[in-house]
Amino acid sequence: MKSVKEKPKLTPQRDAVFQVILERDDHPTASDIFEAARRRLPSISYATVYNSLRYLKEAGLVHEINFGDSASRYDRETDRHDHAICNDCGKLVDFDLPDAAKLMQAAARKSHFQPQSVHLTLRGRCPDCCANKISG
Ligand code: ZN
Ligand code: MN
Repeated sequence: MKSVKEKPKLTPQRDAVFQVILERDDHPTASDIFEAARRRLPSISYATVYNSLRYLKEAGLVHEINFGDSASRYDRETDRHDHAICNDCGKLVDFDLPDAAKLMQAAARKSHFQPQSVHLTLRGRCPDCCANKISG
């Protein structure tokens, strides 16, 4: 699932934001990224982090995932993949649906749309939250 990318030329601020995203697999929010970027570059402002995120997204270096009901999450993985999100704690994990192409063709037939991409979001409760429910 990891794609090998050439290291892009970035300003120090954009690079700090990019490195924070690259080293995390938990799909951080903009404020998570701000907290971590500040440890690398203490002078960085939230506005700069926000603008850097927009730049990195437009350059295709990161993906923004927006579920509409909460803060956007940022993803270092830009190849097609699917997500599972926990309704209780917001944990967001990657997975790859093996039959995504077939699923897309079936959805295209039913909707009469010309398919371009498909992304499955599984909503539910993560293993940690399930364990907490049982013990509590
Ligand atoms: Zn959870
Ligand atoms: Mn992802």
